[in-house]
Amino acid sequence: MKRKLTHLKPTQHSAVELGFDKSCVSQNAIKVVRGLQSAGFDGYLVGGCVRDLLMGRKPKDFDVTTNANPEQIKKIFDRARIIGRRFKIVHVTFGRGREREIIEVATYRAMPDSANKKGFRGRSKASSTGRILDDNVYGTIEVDAIRRDFTINAMYYDPNKETVIDFVNGIEDAKTKTLRIIGDINLRFSEDPVRMIRVVRFQSKLGLQVGESILAAIEKNAALLQDVPAARLFEEVLKLFHHSAAAKTWLRLRETLLLYYLFPQTVKCINQEGGDKFESLILSALNNTDKRVGQNKPVIPAYLFAVMLWWPFKTEFKRLVSKGVRRNEAFWIASDLVFKQQSSSVTLPLRVKGPAHEIWEMQSLLENRIPRSIERLLENRRFRAAYDFLLLRQEIGEVSKDIVDWWTEIQDCDFHQRQSMIETTVEKGRGNSNQKRGPKRHPKKGAASSAAENKIASKARNPTGKYNG
Ligand code: ATP
Ligand code: MG
Repeated sequence: MKRKLTHLKPTQHSAVELGFDKSCVSQNAIKVVRGLQSAGFDGYLVGGCVRDLLMGRKPKDFDVTTNANPEQIKKIFDRARIIGRRFKIVHVTFGRGREREIIEVATYRAMPDSANKKGFRGRSKASSTGRILDDNVYGTIEVDAIRRDFTINAMYYDPNKETVIDFVNGIEDAKTKTLRIIGDINLRFSEDPVRMIRVVRFQSKLGLQVGESILAAIEKNAALLQDVPAARLFEEVLKLFHHSAAAKTWLRLRETLLLYYLFPQTVKCINQEGGDKFESLILSALNNTDKRVGQNKPVIPAYLFAVMLWWPFKTEFKRLVSKGVRRNEAFWIASDLVFKQQSSSVTLPLRVKGPAHEIWEMQSLLENRIPRSIERLLENRRFRAAYDFLLLRQEIGEVSKDIVDWWTEIQDCDFHQRQSMIETTVEKGRGNSNQKRGPKRHPKKGAASSAAENKIASKARNPTGKYNG
């Protein structure tokens, strides 16, 4: 049944009765709400943090909403900065270094088509497909609620009064774990196609029920993702796979057309004969990611993309080698091409391409155990990521268990034991003149396919990303 959300009466609830654990609420967020209220404005916590408190989860960040406009908000707080263009918000910063916390404060938004109507301030702009390009029309709390994406994301919590305001039956939906879109589903997806990705994220992360009509609308509108700036999709992809339910998210995405628009090359490889092996490598990697996130260990985007693009890269590499391109050159050209194609759906920043390339580059060095490279490999900052990647490959039979065990063992050895393991490897390696060598350096000028490729090469030699596995 479609609800006329604009006719819903707001209901007010006691946060204590709803079971909110106030100790999970950031003191800085409470300070921001207080600051706004003391200046005579409204101030509420809103969105994911209220949803999480209601569902008994610890929120990871806090969003505040108010009727003050960005300039007015900025004046109230010492360390406040207006950011964003499509959607202007104010970042209020507390603490420094590891203690730093940013509270995002947004002015109540109205539906963009209210821009020229009486009582609304601001500006809006939409593309020919209805995608909102400028979302800065300010409104009232009621309209702010109905322009949010899902009912469970549209509750307003006043931590000082301990009250929760619900305009769209979000409390009931959170209790029954139901994901419901506010308003007309197709319209809301065309206004912002990223909402389709958010459906899958919350479905997997919170174990929500998603109705047939939403799934059907995703199939219908999935292609609209092509219009979303690829840089925004990079951020969304990270949120999809770095939130502790990455493997589930993958399986859900796989049931929709969204995966194709995010990772076209990956989908193509999986659908090939034997592609199920590649998919099990991906799932294994995502399960490991979930474990790491669960243990609060860092995860790096480069690893995710190295996994997702591994077979597309391998396929291209093999194709080039079969055409007579030298392995060394084929390696660089293939990785450049695969990254470039991926970037037309989801932008890959240089800080991701460099380390992903390195993880791939280290694979053949690890497999071949060239004695003079072993110490250097072990010291390489990307070693853990490359070693984890090798383990994944062993699981699907791409690498022999002996090699992986050798690398597992050598990491725990002292200097002398290491030398002895390396010498034994040299002995064994002698007589094996066919040993393939990994790409040692970037090919000479002219062999590279583009200037961008040269850039990746220099970045890969001096990467900046971190992997503290
Ligand atoms: P998370 O726990 O992952 O941060 P979240 O729901 O808080 O989830 P945010 O991206 O932080 O997600 O967004 C904060 C709130 O802003 C959402 O809860 C929702 O109310 C609103 N919102 C975010 N993205 C959209 C969107 N694309 N369309 C409409 N409303 C949105
Ligand atoms: Mg949030």
